[in-house]
Amino acid sequence: MPKKALIIGAGIAGIATAIRLAVKGYVVEVFDANSYPGGKLSEFEKDGFRFDAGPSLFTMPQYVDELFRLAGKAPSDYFEYQKLDVLCKYFYADGTKLTAYANAGLFAAEVSKSIGEPEAAIEKYATNSSNIYNITSHVFLEKSLHRIKTFLSLSTLKSIFRIGKIDAMRTMHKANEAFFKDERMVQFYDRFATYNGSNPYSAPATLNVIPHIEQHFGAYFPKDGMYSITTSLVKLAESLGVKFNYNSRVDEIKLERQKVKGVWVKDSLIEADIVVSNMDVWFTYHQLLRTRPALFPKRILRQERSSSALIFYWGISKQFPKLDLHNIFFSADYNAEFDHIWQQKDIYDDPTVYLNISSKYKSDDAPPGCENWFVMINVPANVGQDWDKLIAEARRNILNKLYKSLGEDISQLIISESILDPRSIESRTSSYQGSIYGTSSNSRFAAFLRHANKSSKIDGLYFCGGSVHPGGGIPLCLLSAKIVSEWV
Ligand code: FAD
Repeated sequence: MPKKALIIGAGIAGIATAIRLAVKGYVVEVFDANSYPGGKLSEFEKDGFRFDAGPSLFTMPQYVDELFRLAGKAPSDYFEYQKLDVLCKYFYADGTKLTAYANAGLFAAEVSKSIGEPEAAIEKYATNSSNIYNITSHVFLEKSLHRIKTFLSLSTLKSIFRIGKIDAMRTMHKANEAFFKDERMVQFYDRFATYNGSNPYSAPATLNVIPHIEQHFGAYFPKDGMYSITTSLVKLAESLGVKFNYNSRVDEIKLERQKVKGVWVKDSLIEADIVVSNMDVWFTYHQLLRTRPALFPKRILRQERSSSALIFYWGISKQFPKLDLHNIFFSADYNAEFDHIWQQKDIYDDPTVYLNISSKYKSDDAPPGCENWFVMINVPANVGQDWDKLIAEARRNILNKLYKSLGEDISQLIISESILDPRSIESRTSSYQGSIYGTSSNSRFAAFLRHANKSSKIDGLYFCGGSVHPGGGIPLCLLSAKIVSEWV
């Protein structure tokens, strides 16, 4: 008899795990509380506009392709994407504009022209990021940190031997200040801390590996939008026999002593050999294993959460040729902005605004002559703030900021509006405190304090997704699925 695997959650990691286990010969069933797959990686349509609801930046597409190849299929039969020539357009508070070209030479020349930092400084920085990547990716991203086997391989031992070179003793900001004289370049590279919801003023400089992912491996746009990552992988999973159950919240994980027996969904017990939770690990314990507190990994569940996000989805009745797919409008004082997110737990009145416009690449995402604006700022995790008040203030401040930068009163152009905030992120995807990347990486021990991909106390229970090792973001979620399947 083939073995049976149940997956709690059809987030991107849950879907990828389902594919990997089906390829291994498991009978796989996925349960999701929502009526649609994808969790944070979802979409919606309103007033003639289509919006990707969550992720907008697509990197490391090879981890998606790998899933199709594993199943013996050609990736391009299911999923197409293109590489971006321009990674992002940056608008600084002092009026400086900087285009981050994907081509390293063009980017270094642009920095030298717009900001005055020598091209050699950019090249030196890129070499540093690449070195950190080469040392860390094998151990910290692609393998479990919780298996002896990981530490017995030659490549891991080589990485451990070079661990002193990963710059873990100073913060990202301190390292960036040492690389660049101009504070605009420091701010440029500090921003990469937000790619996993962390704070550049406390996260270790090891995170300066992140620019390497975007600038060296590139950023991409899926031809049918970000949500096609979800839909194409669901299609692949279904072709392998995976059964998806929507509107099916798992209420409890059934244990017999310390071994998994199955899950309870609406008064039905579904039995299985293994269970993989793609649900946020905090809620997995506090909701699905609530009767067994002795099994909780208390220290791990106390880890600081990543930041959250506030998003305005605006249908705009005009097109802006000077804007690109990804655009950043920086705050004048980055330190103050992060102080508000991490210490004061509120929203700074001059937040850095990220603006994504998918209709630049996929014109049918907006009616003719219009654009679909995904306007996001980083905000603290939800600890009970007065969000309605904070959101109203933030909306005014964002519109003022865009007016100063673009010379246009955007409020007059908004013909459709929806909002996602930490409360709705928490309730729609069961993400504790509305954190978008699980736990933060604000300490140099963070990588070691993420929950393992397998329970050490409950036999047959595995974990994938942004709240466990190796962390949040689509590429790492896909790697968590790979680690789970190797462990199984
Ligand atoms: P999730 O997406 O968290 O989904 C978990 C699923 O589990 C949900 O579908 C939920 O309904 C289900 N579930 C929970 N509890 C139960 C239960 N009891 N029973 C059944 N089902 C349950 N990443 C990037 O790479 N690039 C970006 O640009 C980017 N931007 C982002 C912007 C925003 C606004 C957000 C919110 C996230 C962003 N991310 C980005 C992060 C990325 O979206 C996540 O890391 C990733 O999608 C998380 O996937 P996951 O597999 O952990 O599952």
